[in-house]
Amino acid sequence: MKIMHIGLDDTDSPRKGCTTYVAALLVEKLRKLGTEFIDYPNLVRLNPNVPWKTRGNGALCLRIRCDESDEKKIKETVTNTVEDHADLEYTGTDPGIVFFKKAKIPREVKIFAKKAVTGIVNLEDALKLLKKFEAEAVGFKKCRGIIGGLAAVGETLQCDYTFEILAYRIPENWGLKRRVDESSIVEMDKATAPYTFNNVDQKTSRVLITPRGPDPILFGIRGETPEIVKEAFEMAKPLETVERWVIFRTNQGTDAHLKLVKQLSQIKPFNPVVAKGTVATNPKIIPRRHVVFSIENESAQVDCAAYEPTGSLRKAAKKLIVGDYVEVHGGVRAPSQNHPLTINLEKIRVMRLAPKIVYHNPVCLKCGKRLKSMGRNKGFRCKKCGSRHLDLRKIEVKVKREIRKGLYITSSRSQRHLTKPFRRYGLEKSHTVFKGLIEDWCFP
Ligand code: ATP
Repeated sequence: MKIMHIGLDDTDSPRKGCTTYVAALLVEKLRKLGTEFIDYPNLVRLNPNVPWKTRGNGALCLRIRCDESDEKKIKETVTNTVEDHADLEYTGTDPGIVFFKKAKIPREVKIFAKKAVTGIVNLEDALKLLKKFEAEAVGFKKCRGIIGGLAAVGETLQCDYTFEILAYRIPENWGLKRRVDESSIVEMDKATAPYTFNNVDQKTSRVLITPRGPDPILFGIRGETPEIVKEAFEMAKPLETVERWVIFRTNQGTDAHLKLVKQLSQIKPFNPVVAKGTVATNPKIIPRRHVVFSIENESAQVDCAAYEPTGSLRKAAKKLIVGDYVEVHGGVRAPSQNHPLTINLEKIRVMRLAPKIVYHNPVCLKCGKRLKSMGRNKGFRCKKCGSRHLDLRKIEVKVKREIRKGLYITSSRSQRHLTKPFRRYGLEKSHTVFKGLIEDWCFP
């Protein structure tokens, strides 16, 4: 028996498909061929800030044990399935498949994967690694999917990880409005909290498990263990036929994309970062209600933006003032003609609040009425008794801040797949104690 890791990416387009669905089809086909899955299919979210992603920048890896004599059949099945289900006519869909036949994933491939999650990698480096480790790849068109395919192979999810059960629609329903009993989702959320997450937006009560768009996913439920997502799946009531379902192991909800930068001058476009600095300009509201402020340290000053859909995060950002010390988390947008390099905020940790001082006019020493200023450094005049006070100064008053120290996260409805939500804090896993797959991890 041999171990094979099969990486897949870039099969879908905004108008059709989903690489997780190709993986779900392959689960059925490969099991029929007699292969054994040694892990749940891995759904690896790569850098959410790469400019050429379609949606969530997800890549897939199937890790199997198979008979050496079946290798050819397996490769054919995978290649044909990708070919049949990829939107090959769409410019920008460049599928890639990687067949990696070493049981243990080499360190260099793991490093490549980490870089694909936190930064930008290139096809040339992917091909060099494939050659070095005698892996095989199949690429279509520009072959860019090979990058994601190799990254999915290399991300063995040994630090923090979560699970997602994905249920798929029958092809007749693709593109139609998704039908799920929303009250069953709200109940499921209550019953399984905190071990499932991002089911419902707490503020608007909107159900979040159903994606929008023409892809074949009916819904996805995310959680800490395969058992809990399965239990939650049984509580959810779909109002249309579920064609198939599969439990994936994933880096979703783990903040795996964020990398700490020591100096603001090190921040590069497209790299998600965690950076610390002092608020250097007061937040301002720009068109479409986005909030922008800047932070600085001794090395540079950088703009930060909390977009309108970030909800509670935007509200917190609005309350910052110059002098606050914050840690910002987010993706980096390249500078353009209209704006400088900007961190698109996903989280803000307020670490120190500056005192907020307002200045009041003093009161009249004779009659106690609040004085009127006669102009800058020109003293004050009392409107009631007419007295003048040339040597009085404005009074400093410290006012209560409307924001507290602590962590602020974008509302669930606008969280990225990789963003760790509040619910997961304290539930992180630090290493994989892999107990094997549960019995029912995919449709029979
Ligand atoms: P999905 O819809 O499945 O969530 P996606 O459709 O948004 O994902 P893809 O269609 O897979 O994204 O396209 C992303 C492309 O970018 C892939 O070809 C992948 O190989 C490539 N890619 C992903 N991450 C990186 C990275 N960090 N550096 C360079 N290329 C990357």
